[in-house]
Amino acid sequence: MAIIIDGKTVSASVKNSVAEECRTLFEKTGKKPGLAVIIVGDDPASRVYVNNKKKACELVGFVSREYALPASTSQEELSALVKELNSDREINGILCQLPLPKHLDEKAVIELIAPEKDVDAFHASNVGKIMIGDFDFLPCTPAGVMEMLDYYNIEIAGKECVVVGRSNIVGKPMSMLLLHRNGTVTICHSKTKNLKEVCRRADILVAAVGIPKFVSGDMIKEGAVVIDVGINRTADGKLCGDVDFAEAEKVASYITPVPGGVGPMTIAVLMKNTLTAFKLQNLL
Ligand code: NDP
Repeated sequence: MAIIIDGKTVSASVKNSVAEECRTLFEKTGKKPGLAVIIVGDDPASRVYVNNKKKACELVGFVSREYALPASTSQEELSALVKELNSDREINGILCQLPLPKHLDEKAVIELIAPEKDVDAFHASNVGKIMIGDFDFLPCTPAGVMEMLDYYNIEIAGKECVVVGRSNIVGKPMSMLLLHRNGTVTICHSKTKNLKEVCRRADILVAAVGIPKFVSGDMIKEGAVVIDVGINRTADGKLCGDVDFAEAEKVASYITPVPGGVGPMTIAVLMKNTLTAFKLQNLL
């Protein structure tokens, strides 16, 4: 049976070290890191994520500001807010909760956030920096996966790493981070042929597909490390990942559950990124 990689424990450890450094920096400077979270409309999932981000800020000792805008907000109004926050010295990180209502241009909003305050690491400038391996912030979910692998002392160098999914927020940056750590990386997507065979090569298999139980036990090599990024709902409303957990745990050496796996890591890394932004902006 696989060892369960406990995202709650790892995320608590990351948040504890952020909180500790935040206290030390406050004693030194009298200032606290500040995170602004913008939410447009009333998507219930987004509301849960924003509330969790607020709670995490309180826990680590950050200033958190929420800007809840109506679904009817125009691009100009949203842009004006981002510009205002870009020059607000109390705010070190800006996050615009996605998805935005359909009439708004997400890409334009992301590109308007000052790169030094882009704690999601979605801005083209930060994405480019990740590509060349010279970055300030790492995208929260993939960086959270790396934190988990490190916490459990899982070796990456020289390992066959297969990432299923190539989105800009998970699959692509995940592949890049594994590559930076000397993994031999294969990226799969909806046009990949022989997916099962490719997945069965993996020592480390990352699923970021968005389809419940997409990765079955027979797609996993005996002893592989299985990381399930997926957050899906089954027909009866239960949370489930992209991996068939019951099958996979019999084959894998380590596995992340859903919930309680990668999910809690994303916010922990967001806290870490906001602290980094604070230090960079205050030359600490
Ligand atoms: P996207 O929908 O943006 O990307 C899904 C990827 O899966 C695409 O690259 C797609 O390929 C690929 N895919 C779809 N069907 C298949 C298939 N049959 N075979 C192989 N590949 C396939 O999703 P995200 O990357 O944004 O999210 C993935 C999952 O992770 C979701 O469940 C999401 O909820 C979750 N998530 C969890 C987070 C967390 O904090 N834990 C944070 C972000 C996301 P193609 O490019 O060819 O279409």
